[in-house]
Amino acid sequence: MGRRKKNAKKISGVTQKIYESNIKKTEKSNSDKKEIVEQKEENIFILKTVIDVYSRMKLPLVHSTQHRASDDSDEEEDTLELNFWPRFVFVSNLCLICMERSKETCESCGMVSYCTVKHKKEGWSKHRDLCKLLTEVCTTGEGLSLLPKLTADDYRVYRLKLIEIVECRLVRSLELWEKEILLYPRVCRSCRCFSKDLRCCSICGIELFCENHKSGHEEWCREFQVFGRILIMQHKNGYVNPEIPDTIQKSPLYMPNNLDTLMAQLYSCSTYYRSMDCYTYCSLSHISTIPLTTLYSMQISCQDWEIIDTLVVHIIGAEFHFECINLYVWETFFLHLLPNLKHLRLMFIGPEMRLPMVPLNLLTAVKMCPACKSSNRRVKVSFHPGKFYHDFYHSEQFIKPHIVCLFNPGLYRETGFDGRDTWPETIKKICKTKVPVCVTSYTKHEIPREMIRIKSIADVETILEPRKNPFASIKPDRNFVSDDTVPLIYKNYYLAIIKGKS
Ligand SMILES: [Zn+2]
Ligand SMILES: [Zn+2]
Ligand SMILES: [Zn+2]
Ligand SMILES: [Zn+2]
Ligand SMILES: [Zn+2]
Repeated sequence: MGRRKKNAKKISGVTQKIYESNIKKTEKSNSDKKEIVEQKEENIFILKTVIDVYSRMKLPLVHSTQHRASDDSDEEEDTLELNFWPRFVFVSNLCLICMERSKETCESCGMVSYCTVKHKKEGWSKHRDLCKLLTEVCTTGEGLSLLPKLTADDYRVYRLKLIEIVECRLVRSLELWEKEILLYPRVCRSCRCFSKDLRCCSICGIELFCENHKSGHEEWCREFQVFGRILIMQHKNGYVNPEIPDTIQKSPLYMPNNLDTLMAQLYSCSTYYRSMDCYTYCSLSHISTIPLTTLYSMQISCQDWEIIDTLVVHIIGAEFHFECINLYVWETFFLHLLPNLKHLRLMFIGPEMRLPMVPLNLLTAVKMCPACKSSNRRVKVSFHPGKFYHDFYHSEQFIKPHIVCLFNPGLYRETGFDGRDTWPETIKKICKTKVPVCVTSYTKHEIPREMIRIKSIADVETILEPRKNPFASIKPDRNFVSDDTVPLIYKNYYLAIIKGKS
């Protein structure tokens, strides 16, 4: 212990936080007194070296130091790796070419900007066609001058309408980044005025405001700094594959109430952990939030989570590119943290789930480490696309779950699928399973509405009142759906757990 503590002192830029609850929980899990003392020291060491995302903002891109253990095995395994370059993301004050901070705005439309005159010239051919239409749409009629007068809802509808008009005149659909020019236009964040004199926050370089609305941004500045940092690193390096901590536990791991603490603990403060940049760290949280939120919910709501040997998880309304890829992370966060768990069964169900056109066995294959393989432990995955949960419930494939997950479902919106609101039937069946259901939302404001919706349909008990999810993704995204409440959103930001009574 002494040696490790010495090392801890050398680590710079660390946040020192003590999470008492974590220590207490670890005490509870061990009967041996000596072990408790050791665990306690270990925890204090880890807590001293916790590094959060903000402290990682200036670090350069980290390079992976090792391959996953199973990569080295002789056995040729068929697993799927989705390799593609991330699409361009438009941000009104970042250069249309290189994503650096802008100093030049397009004189004609005033909607896009560039870091230098050089990039402005370079960008003209990419922008010309659209510029003509944007200029027309923004300046003809009431154009963008109407924006300050609209209600939050009308403002959303109006922007969608503008996209429609532009697409109609261009006779093609806009690419996503082109739509973003109109979805997140170059206007003052408070009054939505559109003028050439808008100023940009000098710290994050992203949010714009007019003369009258300089205050109020501070609350979000730090999050915008992370957002900007991620975008530029992603633009230059493509997607990153964070190295997942490889820690097979001897006894079930009680999760602390904090992602940073858990990561410090799992990586044992390795060099890789200490040098992980902000983009890689956010990507790590983004691919881990699904299994970690599930595990956390399970520790709160399932009594036998420590000893269970077969676990069935239902994930409803899954979005393939978020919940259904990176499945190997489940092996790390379930099989490696719960030594008694032998079989993990993941069932993804959803009418809107679209599977890519590749053989199913590639999609469902989960890379396993040699240790799990040799002890015959398994992660079994099945997809049930195009299926409502209430139909799945009565099908032959149905296996009773231990926990059901509804990640960012937006139940309260009642827009439904194909114009039909099918959530009531689904919610009834979910509650009929009488198992814990974890529900998450993008914002604090949404979760109470999700609870109201569920309670209006079924008789449920609340196991966990809505609260901030410690294992939410820390990768920010812009908010369109409720941008009048918060400008940035995070997957699984808020969490609640309920259970059906009847
Ligand atoms: Zn540039
Ligand atoms: Zn233009
Ligand atoms: Zn303003
Ligand atoms: Zn700022
Ligand atoms: Zn393993």
